Amino acid sequence: MEGIFLVPIDGNGILICRNLWYTFVIFVNCNSVPSKSFDFGASQTPIKTNAPLISHVDQINLDFKEKEVEKYAKEHKLGYVNLRNFPINPDALVLVSKDDAVEGRFVPIHAAGKELRFAAVDPTNAKLKEIAASYTAKGFVVQLYLISEESLSFVLRLYDKQAEKVGVKVLELNEDALESYDKEIAKMSALVEHFQSMSDVDILNAILLGSVKTHASDIHFQPEKGRVLLRYRIDGVLHQIFILPPDIYENILTNLKFSASMKLNVGYKPQDGKLNFQVTGRQIDIRMSTLPTEFGEAVVMRLLDSKKSIATFDSLGLVGRNRAVLEAALQKSEGMLLVTGPTGSGKTTTLYTVLHMLNTPDVKIITLEDPIEYHLENISQSQIRETEGYTFALGLRAILRQDPNIIMVGEIRDQETADIAVQSALTGHVMLSTVHTNSAVETIPRLLNMGVKRYLVGPALNTIVAQRLVRKACTACRKEVPLTGKIAAEMTAAMTEAKKAQPELEIPSVNHIYEAVGCPACGNTGYAGQVALFEILNVTKAFEELILAEATPREMIAQAQKDGMVTLYQDGLLKVLAGLTTIAEVMSVTSA
Ligand SMILES: [Zn+2]
Repeated sequence: MEGIFLVPIDGNGILICRNLWYTFVIFVNCNSVPSKSFDFGASQTPIKTNAPLISHVDQINLDFKEKEVEKYAKEHKLGYVNLRNFPINPDALVLVSKDDAVEGRFVPIHAAGKELRFAAVDPTNAKLKEIAASYTAKGFVVQLYLISEESLSFVLRLYDKQAEKVGVKVLELNEDALESYDKEIAKMSALVEHFQSMSDVDILNAILLGSVKTHASDIHFQPEKGRVLLRYRIDGVLHQIFILPPDIYENILTNLKFSASMKLNVGYKPQDGKLNFQVTGRQIDIRMSTLPTEFGEAVVMRLLDSKKSIATFDSLGLVGRNRAVLEAALQKSEGMLLVTGPTGSGKTTTLYTVLHMLNTPDVKIITLEDPIEYHLENISQSQIRETEGYTFALGLRAILRQDPNIIMVGEIRDQETADIAVQSALTGHVMLSTVHTNSAVETIPRLLNMGVKRYLVGPALNTIVAQRLVRKACTACRKEVPLTGKIAAEMTAAMTEAKKAQPELEIPSVNHIYEAVGCPACGNTGYAGQVALFEILNVTKAFEELILAEATPREMIAQAQKDGMVTLYQDGLLKVLAGLTTIAEVMSVTSA
């Protein structure tokens, strides 16, 4: 039986209509029934009218529909559920993103071990089939149930609630929690023994809090055979915190991927996402990336503390002539300041410090960043989205139309960005950026390799800052060692060279340096905090001529030193003499 029946009751009416799957019974006000716009032939969409709906009729309506779906399911040998009466396992929902659920017109309703139950409106839906197949491929057994449209929209609403719940549950840490976790973190490895009695969310909280407590910059999850290593990067060095059982890791991973809006059912290709959590009112943004590996998805989380205070030249370790050169460079109203170094060498921190110093009410500053690590007042910061086509090059063109005085571009890594950056540096803009090179001088061939015209490189460049981060020796446990023998001779030779470059250089006169030891205060690492080593190349007229003359790197280094450049190695040894760090640290970052 298919068709529409209008049964008049007291001037209003009950509209009964049927199609293949559903029977609709809708209470309508006759005056509002449109005369000819109904077409229920194949539609599965509930009828919408302006009429007030009455609850008991509504209920009859729903019951009819459920019966129809149940009948259809029986005919097609499928299970049937009415999700209004079915307890949904909230953990099941996180297995499929809401977008996928909407597109596939289904919801995951149950997950236990490798057993999954999906409830679908249309078992032939392509997205549903694709996602079910992806789970089957991972060894899951997927059972399919039929549900009504009403059941589907009922559960889809739960998604938003679930998102809130996960968001709050996982990612808001209060003072009390901080206190209790703090004790645990003092002996993180002891935490492993409590895993069985802790919920997955508690374990994740402990991991996040631990990272904040230890001032970690990154959290790494590395799956290996039968175990997952959890490591923190603290002061640039990875420390193993503990080993997670794979089943606990699976749950943590699911929680994290859900919070970072990643596709939960995708584990076979890399994904990027963002999440954040609050620690005593401070928001920590996390940039998360996954990578499929032999034993599961590896995760790296970069912690971006938006309230972290901007460093000063002093706190960075920028002193003496280096500081004077950089400060002079900041007085110029055009040209390029490039900061170079490998990943994790503190380039961004230096650029932010520079931006902070340049940030006065009379200049317009715009940045292009990926990601925005610090939020700066009075500066327009724009987030690059390469995956959506918003590239550095595209952003840079757009920025120039915004009439800025100072531009900061997160990184120059392709010809297009390099060309526009050089052009803007030559046309009255201060251009700040970073390049991946090992030394200041290597930046010249790098720009040339990217396709920048040789005759433009010199005129566009003001200053190149190469830098590295080294760990500071822990002042609570560092050990004095006499400055004698080979080390003393090497030190004297390097300082003589440095003094040639900068005659005014003050060399600490000491008879001992320090070695790292390790104590509870520094987590037995021997180090606490970091300081940067700098190599600052001032692009003088003489240096520009060398670029034009296609000089060798050796000739360029000689000229740079003549112009006052102290090398990274020399600056490192100066910091050893000043008692800040150790020879081992300096060697580890300068002997490339
Ligand atoms: Zn110590």
